[in-house]
Amino acid sequence: MLTVRNLRKTFVTPQGSLEAIKDVSFQVEKGEIFGVIGFSGAGKSTLIRCLNRLEEPDSGQIFINGRDITLLAGQSLREARKKIGMIFQHFNLFDSRTVWKNISFPMEVARLPTREIAKRVEKLLEVVGLVDKADAYPAQLSGGQKQRVGIARALAMEPELLLIDEATSALDPLTTRSILKLLQDINRQSGVTVVLITHEMDVVRQICHRVAVMEEGRLVEMGDVQEVFNEPKSKTTQLFLQQMI
Ligand code: ATP
Ligand code: MG
Repeated sequence: MLTVRNLRKTFVTPQGSLEAIKDVSFQVEKGEIFGVIGFSGAGKSTLIRCLNRLEEPDSGQIFINGRDITLLAGQSLREARKKIGMIFQHFNLFDSRTVWKNISFPMEVARLPTREIAKRVEKLLEVVGLVDKADAYPAQLSGGQKQRVGIARALAMEPELLLIDEATSALDPLTTRSILKLLQDINRQSGVTVVLITHEMDVVRQICHRVAVMEEGRLVEMGDVQEVFNEPKSKTTQLFLQQMI
């Protein structure tokens, strides 16, 4: 479903240049939940942001369902992006819009018919359990509720790929569990493919099928969660897991 080949990204700043992604290649199957872990600064967010071109890669290819999205521009890029949902750590909701209006936003941008928008919003409110909060503003919500809105909004355009960057790290353990359950249910029901960055190893154990370990812009290890956690091959993974568990 997702194939990344020889991806590279260098940031150039007045302080110098930094190779954030160094020749990264991997593949994620349809319906899979693929975890990305590694120390702070390893390049995880940069990698995931390249996947929907929030960050422009310098070179390499990103195939989503066989189509290289690095070649797209303008309208065709916007179309491709509609099928990629993104969920952030800090929710990134619109404070001046209600829950309902936050969820409807991407559909308004895509100019879906009003009736279709209403239908989807109602359905999504049910999926994420926020029917009674439809008219509330983000400031009136708990962290977990805000993240539910973020999830509903990411699902609005019925994405094939969901990119999740530390969606639960601002949440308490109980709320984290309910958000994970929700993501897992959505994955099982819709078959959406998920790439998930997290610092919480329990999260990886609970919901990821495979996991990749990043260090200094490279993928140093990749495999089934059990395999990587029980018999880590690279020094970095061993060190990382020792510190995180
Ligand atoms: P964390 O776990 O702390 O979120 P991360 O693995 O997500 O870390 P990135 O945010 O991808 O790491 O950053 C990778 C490297 O790229 C870091 O050294 C960071 O300072 C650098 N970097 C990220 N974004 C930019 C930017 N816009 N300009 C310059 N350097 C950047
Ligand atoms: Mg990050």
